[in-house]
Amino acid sequence: MFCYHCQEAKKNIACDTAGICGKKADVSSLHDLLTYTLKGLSFYAVKAAEAGINEPNIDQFTARALYSMVTNVNFDPAVFVQLIAETVQRREYLKRLLTAKNVQLNGAIPEEAQWQYETIDQAAWVKIGETFGVMAAGELSGEQADLHAAREMLMYTAKGLGALLEYIQVLNVFHVEHYAFMHKLVAYTLQADVSLDDLLAMSFKAGERSLLVMELLEQVNAEKFGQPEPTTVHLDTWEKPGILVTGHDFQDLHDLLEQSAGSGVDIYTHGEMIEAHSYPAFKKYFNLVANYGGAWQDQKTQFSKFKGPVLVTSNSLQQPKKDYTDKAYTSGMVGWPDIAHIDKRRSSEAKDFSAIIEQAKQCEPPTPITKGVVTVGYGLHALCALTEAIVTGINAGDIQRIIVVVGCDGRHKERRYYTELVQSLPQDTLILTAGDTKYRFHDLELGAINGIPRLLDVGQTHDFHALLAFLTHLQKAMQLSHLSELPVSFNVAWYEQQTILMMLALFALGIKDVRIGPTLPPFFSAGILEKLTQTLAVKGIDTPENDIAAMLGIEVVPAEPQEIETASQTNI
Ligand code: SF4
Repeated sequence: MFCYHCQEAKKNIACDTAGICGKKADVSSLHDLLTYTLKGLSFYAVKAAEAGINEPNIDQFTARALYSMVTNVNFDPAVFVQLIAETVQRREYLKRLLTAKNVQLNGAIPEEAQWQYETIDQAAWVKIGETFGVMAAGELSGEQADLHAAREMLMYTAKGLGALLEYIQVLNVFHVEHYAFMHKLVAYTLQADVSLDDLLAMSFKAGERSLLVMELLEQVNAEKFGQPEPTTVHLDTWEKPGILVTGHDFQDLHDLLEQSAGSGVDIYTHGEMIEAHSYPAFKKYFNLVANYGGAWQDQKTQFSKFKGPVLVTSNSLQQPKKDYTDKAYTSGMVGWPDIAHIDKRRSSEAKDFSAIIEQAKQCEPPTPITKGVVTVGYGLHALCALTEAIVTGINAGDIQRIIVVVGCDGRHKERRYYTELVQSLPQDTLILTAGDTKYRFHDLELGAINGIPRLLDVGQTHDFHALLAFLTHLQKAMQLSHLSELPVSFNVAWYEQQTILMMLALFALGIKDVRIGPTLPPFFSAGILEKLTQTLAVKGIDTPENDIAAMLGIEVVPAEPQEIETASQTNI
């Protein structure tokens, strides 16, 4: 096993015996075999598209399979065995379609597009996967190490893109051009005659593409659930039993609310699902009462205390503890062996959540762990409504700088940096955030500038597009020629593959001085880092005081260190 997909890779090098996330070596090996076979499938999908053959089922399958390997999505080896078999079968189907059209393929067929199996054999496939992992080529150095790392990074961007496309396709929306790019991206990892610059250029294109896909997801969510609007969310608990919903799948939340209305069961959000409270479609449900707990990494303690069933709808799953194993449910591509899974939708029918609702009725109400309120829902429309006030504030010197702090939360204690950073920023700074890194600071009292809240929570990770779209709007309102001329600094708290896309999108836009933390990605090899540093001044984080001084270009007297309680830590 050698996995350095995410920020929690052991010692910031790689998980080599078992994943910090809970991924076991056999699953890691099956990921490697699935990745290998998906490259072969995408190789043929690109050839098929060139020949005018488009197979939406294969496109959607590929996005789903890529997403299944995103950190904290699925831990069930049986799922990956099925996906590997299906990948090979779908690849063979594409080959038959090409043959039927008499399409001759020029050049060599990569080994990844030729792998076959006689019988489905999990144990054998685990062994085979071990030969296709990151270290399959052995210890590399110099240019070879850089090329290898850049190809790995491309696959992580493909997995992040797969996640975004899966969020869209579960809402029955399909835009072929994004899938065509996805296949090209995956197939590009097979090209031998490319330089590091070529590979980095392709990864920047993936960042650009991700913004288009994020924009589509925003539009689809707005069409189905309305435009998000600033909304106060309660963090306390009520006296009825509840169901806790985490992840990103608003359709799951919607179906559950429909089916539980009037049942006497309250629904609580967790993690990034907190943003649902800001969408008009969810406001009509009186049993959507509050957000419970904090970010994904606190789930083991918090799910135990919740008492009722928990539904994990997307990438935020940890191994369920014994005391709530029988009350944990997964849906979509999320899974853990022997944990109850809600069947997928059949055509236009809703998923059936009756078992969860019936179980909740027998449970005690949640144990209070958090209290107070936070405000979410500064989506693109709400932000644009503040444009004039923000421009006036900047021109008058009331707003010195906008600090963007986006991305994921995680277990590393170094992530206290984000709390301390936001807490220490001067009063004349605005903070824009998206993703669940907000749990590090969203309950701090930060005040307002000329009536504008200093902390503006734009939404989930993918709402990063809305955040950038607003900054572009602001740039135009201030008649500036480039985003980087705005008084804005970017700080990306990375964790998994969607946050890699965030970084790459900023690089593609030519934004300099992006800070990445709490650690730099382990797949930024020496050569990759050198290029990013030289061209874009990409950097890791320092102390909050030093970073604030650098971002503002001033000397900052550090505040006295204080013990800070975040929402997820506030014990009652
Ligand atoms: S996904 Fe992250 S935590 Fe899990 S095995 Fe890979 S590097 Fe380790």
